[in-house]
Amino acid sequence: MKTALLTHADCLGHVTPDGHPERVARLEHILHALEALDLNRVTAPMAADDDLLRIHPESHIREIRSNCPNEGYAQIDGDTFMSPGSVDAAYRAAGAVVRAVDMVLGGDAPNAFCAIRPPGHHAETDTAMGFCLFGNAALAAKHALDHHGLNRVAVVDFDVHHGNGTQDLLWDERRALVITSQQMPLWPGSGRVDETGAYETILNIPLAPGAGGAEMRSAYESQAFPRLRAFKPEFIIISAGFDAHQDDPLANLNWSTGDFAWVTAELCKIADEVCDGRIVSTLEGGYDLNALADATRAHVEELMKAAR
Ligand SMILES: [Zn+2]
Repeated sequence: MKTALLTHADCLGHVTPDGHPERVARLEHILHALEALDLNRVTAPMAADDDLLRIHPESHIREIRSNCPNEGYAQIDGDTFMSPGSVDAAYRAAGAVVRAVDMVLGGDAPNAFCAIRPPGHHAETDTAMGFCLFGNAALAAKHALDHHGLNRVAVVDFDVHHGNGTQDLLWDERRALVITSQQMPLWPGSGRVDETGAYETILNIPLAPGAGGAEMRSAYESQAFPRLRAFKPEFIIISAGFDAHQDDPLANLNWSTGDFAWVTAELCKIADEVCDGRIVSTLEGGYDLNALADATRAHVEELMKAAR
């Protein structure tokens, strides 16, 4: 079976002001880079409000819908904007991860990548922030637990920024292990090692500015992978941000494209050991268009190698 690729043209309809790093061209570059790959291409449905209610209160969903402008832009916080197409894009992004979970847990795909925007890992319970409106990765986790009845899922977030939203949404979820590596110090400022969740199920891995592939590999080998193997998740979700790349303009880590391939291959290896290879990966950040396209392609190619 082939790796599934979930996306929707509506995700290109979420437009941000000129000069904003989280822009339409990101997804265009990614889709172009994945064009030649032999993937099971799936049109992402819209999430149902019942899906979103697994992670957000109704008031947050209502606020996102009512903030959506009829023309131009609405500014949600210092760096988060909405355009007329943003609600549809956000519902497609959330719908993509829900469908991807259904496919992988239903045996219709060995693993899946969701090429979506807006990203999700900064969206907290009732706060859109950091380019994110709904918490896509946390939604995938809750959907796997509550809809599919799993007992243990893991989220691994290698975006250069702390996955504060995922951490917030899964803070008191003892069935979800959250492992997140991030440059520190860096926006949003959270992600210290002593942030461990209500049930010690959150592992924060801060990396110093300038850290490259060697430091990342050593941190993952000594902390992330042993913790993941010990937890024995039945399903793994990846928050795939590619802004730890050495060419990325928003941060100062120095991962190469090969480092993203390495961490993906290692996660696939662990998934093979503990959960029959079942992984759903969802796009987060990554702001140098060429580095983003190359690293995403390398990531998806590793998922494809692991697919069977
Ligand atoms: Zn990021």
